Parts: sequence; C-alpha cells; structure tokens
Amino acid sequence: MQNQNRKRTLVIIGAMWLAYLLLNSFSTGVGIKSIPYSEFLRLAREGNVSEVAVSDNVIQGKMFPEDATSDKAEVFQTVRVDGEISGVLEENGIEYTGKIQSDFLSNLLAWVFPVLLFVGIWYFLMKRFQQQQGGFMTLGKNKAKIYMENDVQVSFEDAAGVEEAKQELVEIIDFLKEPERFTRVGGQIPRGILLVGPPGTGKTLLAKAVAGESSVPFFSLSGSEFVEMFVGLGAARVRDLFKQAKESAPCIIFIDELDALGKARGFGTVGGHDEREQTLNQLLVELDGFDPNMGVILMAATNRPEILDPALLRPGRFDRQILVDRPDKQGRKAILEVHLKKVTAAESLDDGTIAGMTPGMEGAELANLVNEAALLSVRRNKAAVGMAEFEEAVERVVAGLEKKNRLINPKEKEIVAYHELGHAIVAMALPETDPVQKISIIPRGIAALGYTMQVPTEDRFLMRRTELLNKIATLLGGRAAEEVVFDDISTGAHNDLSRATDIARSMVKEYGMSRQLGQVYLAHDKQSRFLNPNTDSGGGDYSAMTAHLIDKEIRRIIDDQYQRALAILKSNRDILDQTAVTLMESEVIEGNQLNELSKAVFDRAKLGNEAERDGARQALAA
Ligand code: ADP
Ligand code: ZN
Repeated sequence: MQNQNRKRTLVIIGAMWLAYLLLNSFSTGVGIKSIPYSEFLRLAREGNVSEVAVSDNVIQGKMFPEDATSDKAEVFQTVRVDGEISGVLEENGIEYTGKIQSDFLSNLLAWVFPVLLFVGIWYFLMKRFQQQQGGFMTLGKNKAKIYMENDVQVSFEDAAGVEEAKQELVEIIDFLKEPERFTRVGGQIPRGILLVGPPGTGKTLLAKAVAGESSVPFFSLSGSEFVEMFVGLGAARVRDLFKQAKESAPCIIFIDELDALGKARGFGTVGGHDEREQTLNQLLVELDGFDPNMGVILMAATNRPEILDPALLRPGRFDRQILVDRPDKQGRKAILEVHLKKVTAAESLDDGTIAGMTPGMEGAELANLVNEAALLSVRRNKAAVGMAEFEEAVERVVAGLEKKNRLINPKEKEIVAYHELGHAIVAMALPETDPVQKISIIPRGIAALGYTMQVPTEDRFLMRRTELLNKIATLLGGRAAEEVVFDDISTGAHNDLSRATDIARSMVKEYGMSRQLGQVYLAHDKQSRFLNPNTDSGGGDYSAMTAHLIDKEIRRIIDDQYQRALAILKSNRDILDQTAVTLMESEVIEGNQLNELSKAVFDRAKLGNEAERDGARQALAA
C-alpha cells in the first residue's frame, strides 16, 4: 500500500517534468532553426529569405540556405537586434508582416509549471512525512501501521515443537470457524490470549496460524511503534484498530511486543510516559468494551510478562496465558523438519543429530541455521544440503562467523591458546561436565578470540549443585590457565566471569544452594508480577545485611572454584604446555587428538582423586 502510493506520486512528478520540458521546447517550436542575427542579415541581403514575421523581440521566417539540396524553404528564427529592419526587407523584396507577440504561453510555461512542480514535490514530501509520523494531516485516520492480511497462508503445520500451545489454540479456531455454535450454548470464549515466550519461538507464527487455520483476517501491529508517536495518536490508533476489526469480524487482532505498550503504569519511567499511558488506557477501554461473542479474538505476544501492567492480566482482559517455550530436542527435530522441506536435503541428513547439536536454539535460529547450511551448499556447488554444511553452520551460528583473515600477534595467540586449553582441561578433569567437542583459536565474530565447544549430551531440566560448581570452575579455567602460565591475567575472560557470576548468583538467590543463606528464595523482583498479578509487593524483600551476605557468598563460591581450577591446571602443567604448542600450530584440536588429551587428563584426575581419598582415609585412621 505505502509503496504503491509512493510510486504513484513519483510517476506523477516525473510526468509533470516531462510535460514541462516538452512544452518549453514547443514554445521555441519544433523544427525551427535558430540562427544568429548576422546570418539572417546576410541571407536577407543575398536574397535567400522569402518571407518573415517580425515581432518585438523575434523574427521568424522562411529561408533557402545556400547549402540546401532541395529548394524547400526552411523555417528559421532569430533574436531581433536592430530596431529598424524594414529598410533591409524592402530592399531585398522580402514579404513581411508584423506580429504581436503573445506572452501568454511563455508566461504560463515560465511561471505556472515550476509552481506546479514545486507543489508536486511538496505534496510528495508531505506524504512521506505523513507516513513516517503516522498521520500528520489526518490525525488518527492513518492506518499505515496496522497491517491487515486477508488471506493468511500459514497453517498449524508450519509451527512445530509447540504442541501444548497448539492444543490450547484449537478451541479458538473452532470458535472462529463457527461462532454461533459457541454462542448458542452460551460458552465463554477468552477475549485476550497472551503468548508468553522468548523471542523467535514462533509466537507471531502461531497467531498467524490461528488466522490461517480458521481463514479469518489477521490484523497486526507492534507495541513498540506506539511509543514513538505524537501524544494522542496511539489512543486514536487503538480505537481505529478495534473499529476496523469489528467491521471485519470474525478476525484476529495481534499485538506484538505488548510489553512496550503495556508496561506497568508509572513503572520504570521518569515522570511517566503520557503517550504510552494514554494508549494503554485506550486499549483497556476497548478490551472491556467489546463483546467476545462477536468474533474478534485478541492475541498478544510478549517475552517479558513480568513487567506488564497487572491491569492487562485481569479476568476479562488477557486472561489466558499460553507459554511458548524454547523447543526441546524433539521439538527442534520437528522444527528442522518443517524448514528442511524448503531446501533439498541430502539422503544422509539426519535431523535428529542436528537437533542434538543445537540445544537452546529456538525456531527462528533453527530456520536461520537451515538457511545458512543451504547457502553453504550452494557455495560449494553441491546438489543437496549435507551434514558437513550443517556442522559448519552450527559453528557459525554458535560462535559467529569464522574470521580467518584477522591477524592476531603471536603473543596474543599464545595467551588465547592457553586460555582455551584451560577451559578444556578443567572440564576434562571434572566429572559430570559436558564433553569438550572442539577447541579452536581461530578468531570468530567480534568478541570471541577462541572458543571451547562443549556439547551437552542431552537436554537438561535439573542441575545438581556439583554440576553447577563444575560449570563455574570450567568457566574460570581460562583465566586460571593464564595465571598459572604467565603469572599475569588478560581481559579475555570478561565473558567467562560474567557467566560464572550469574550462575553463582542464581545458586545463592534462587536455588537456595548456599549454606550461609539457607533454603530461601531471594530473587523476588523477577517474576512475582506475572505469577501473581494481584499482589503489589514486588522488589527484593531482604535486608541490607542479607544483601551483604549474598555478595559475600557469591564471592566465596567464585573464589573456591577458581582455586579448584588453579589446582587442576597446576597438576596438569606438562599436558597443558605440550598441547598449547600443538594448538598454536594447528589452531584447532578435535577428534582423536582431543580424545587422547581428554583421556590423559581424566586418568590423572582419577588417580588424583584416589590419592586424595587414600590420604583422607589415612588421616582419618590416624
Ligand atoms: P516470535 O514472534 O516468537 O518472536 P516468530 O513467530 O516471529 O517468533 O518466528 C520467526 C520465524 O522463526 C518464523 O517465521 C519461522 O520461520 C521460525 N520459527 C519460529 N518458531 C518456529 C516453530 N515453532 N516452528 C517452525 N518455525 C518456527
Ligand atoms: Zn574463556
């Protein structure tokens, strides 16, 4: 729509220009030859001019140029220089007439067309401005930002791995297909459905699928777009949207990023945000005002339900919440199947294996992964997308693009090699850590200079204390290796530190895993609003002393694990040094080489543990 309008305006302006140029050339006349005045005089004296029409400024006439092959007269025009030329004309027997110059046409051309042109340009710019501002002149009437799709081609099959959410939505589809059936028995259909889940998990896709499955129009708009508008516009827009929707019922209204618009009022903003509040209020008014039985279903998506204004979640508003979570391995397999249908996959391709390599990825990332692998296979001139492409695509997506051409100096390379080996060796020495899949010091993306890839063997829903501690130790292994080897540390560990600290903090505040603080939950500020919208108690309800203790405990956990990592690396110093040389040379360690390394470290750790245990036993016996 917008695009078409813009194109049309452009065409109009282009046509006006052309017309202007054309008319301009008509005023001088097509096929009229302009000659200098001196030449006109010469031709006249030589008797080559037959007749002329003289006006104040211009002389037009017919002449026979000497080089002409035919004796056909040519029309010429010249600018009059002398005041007195009738003498010359008389002398040479040229027929002449006077001509009153008509200024009308040239005036028209000189003034009217440029003015028209400017008006055209002004109109065009206004139009664009209007589109950006969402209605400058027709306040509230502009519907540019409400997208309406009449014939949605998305079906439930396009959204995979979200079975529970789909089950909940089936009822809505039934309702949209045959609203009478529900209204006859007096059934209550929810008015508002809130899809809650991380970005890219398919919330928009699901909402569209509901529209597609029940073949009703799909109205959508994004909450974040409201925040940038003129005061008053947002509310008008919301009113408009509901009006339009009611006219085309049954239909679906989908509001993406509801949190941008539905943030708790007077929450997190300095002095409040009038526009957002007005819009939100209008939304609440509309929600309360409409009768669900007329067949308009309101759906919204958010990944931050906890910051939503509790008023939005009250009964009769968005009173049904559906969780759209990250897919598990089965789900990822199903999603991959959907997207693999769009490319030519090799026979040997096993989506189960790919699903295993991609824990934590959601739908959008998996779609991107398939696309990435397909592009790779095109680049390699392969007929079908194979496993090799997927392996590389996973690496790319996980670690950013490989940047082979980035230069790092040898000293840095050495630090990176030891750092990555530090992670790997600590992970190998500790039981129950994810196996190391690959160690690489090929720089990738912007941040990571190297990486150690650990692949979980399965999806995890529970983590034990020991595992979390081991994870922290592994994360700290990089920095520990730097300290052991260089007796100095670098900035390369900041991401490791932040992740380790996050885990430690969660252990203390959320999982009750600190003896000092006990089995209490101290992270209330995170979720309470969503889980229990009616309580107003929000923030971290603990004393300053507890806060101090929390900090101390986090510190202690991190310090302990760092000491552990240091000890492991010290006892494996020889292996560390040897492998670092290999790693610097080949830049990657994987496969057999990696297995050998892993075995060596593991065996030594086992011996160490036994020795430790023996020592402890002896100490006890003594
Ligand atoms: P959200 O609205 O949750 O941020 P989208 O619905 O916009 O996510 O998802 C973006 C894209 O990712 C979709 O167009 C689709 O290609 C892919 N995708 C996401 N989730 C799924 C899924 N469950 N099944 C199949 N494809 C998915
Ligand atoms: Zn690191």
